[in-house]
Amino acid sequence: MKGAYVLIFEVLKDCEIIVGKLGLTFFKKGIYYYCGSAQNNLEKRIERHERKEKKIHWHIDYLTTNKNIKMISSEKYENCQKSKECELAQELFKKKYNQIKNFGCTDCKCNSHLFYKNE
Ligand SMILES: [Zn+2]
Repeated sequence: MKGAYVLIFEVLKDCEIIVGKLGLTFFKKGIYYYCGSAQNNLEKRIERHERKEKKIHWHIDYLTTNKNIKMISSEKYENCQKSKECELAQELFKKKYNQIKNFGCTDCKCNSHLFYKNE
């Protein structure tokens, strides 16, 4: 089953994390929303995000493997195109969530695929 998803996780305290080529990035304590998609196996992709031990491949892996991050839940959108992940990002942007600029969007035109809510 292919599809798109939103990962919801908590940054437990203010911290700085090196995110690959983005470099050292500041993350404020709070609840975060990351939009992504899987063209093959949606369930398996989400299980991968929930694991702490893995080879780093995407920006999001730098966060999910960090001890200051706790996964909360995920929303799944089955059988949709890859562009759905960008639509989900746009929805969060319209809700005026804050964004971590250039995160998770190296292969599309969005400003970000990672958002957080101000407390
Ligand atoms: Zn996008």
